[in-house]
Amino acid sequence: MRRLRWQVAAGAAVGLALALEALAPVLRWLWGGRRRPRHEVLFFPSQVTCTEALLQAPGAKPSAAPAGPGSPAGCQCSLPHCESALSRLLRALLAARASLELCLFAFSSPQLGRAVQLLHQRGVRVRVITDCDYMALNGSQIGLLRKAGIQVRHDQDLGYMHHKFAIVDKKVLITGSLNWTTQAIQNNRENVLIMEDEEYVKLFLEEFERIWEEFNPTKYTFFPQEKKTQ
Ligand code: ZN
Repeated sequence: MRRLRWQVAAGAAVGLALALEALAPVLRWLWGGRRRPRHEVLFFPSQVTCTEALLQAPGAKPSAAPAGPGSPAGCQCSLPHCESALSRLLRALLAARASLELCLFAFSSPQLGRAVQLLHQRGVRVRVITDCDYMALNGSQIGLLRKAGIQVRHDQDLGYMHHKFAIVDKKVLITGSLNWTTQAIQNNRENVLIMEDEEYVKLFLEEFERIWEEFNPTKYTFFPQEKKTQ
């Protein structure tokens, strides 16, 4: 009798566990609110499209629909005026309102450079970590960003600073295989994840801050004299 009661209790417990498991997605949806965190993947190469509507003057709304020939803000260029992997990446970046951390090996795409400068002009705090070898190459956007007053720090190592990630408003992580170069955007097979994920953002932000401190200019070895006199 006692054994039977135990079996019934065990059976009920298993049943309850199964029911809860089945309900889990519903409960998560109820507790998490209606808006789903953003999880998006972009695949490259990107179709070559016009990105002018996104990259217009500082007050331009990033959510504005792409303009087409004949539309009020119509661009008359010959490129298609539709969404592409690049335009979606630009949109994700231009959504920044407070901060943007960039940790990039190669940065030479003029459109992405313009987007970052636009954010800087809008008052978004932009910080860039990059690789000392790539930033010295012709066509790099790094010099232009620095000229615009954006903080840039770089490695001094033989090993590459090979990351390719961005953090928007300390809420959205953008990471993947893509170097921010026109060559890669238009020709390479690449992936970029856009994730609104607290845990991953925290981990990447911690790594960004660690590298940012490690690459503090006061530690650059081409200031040995200054170091000695301090
Ligand atoms: Zn156009």
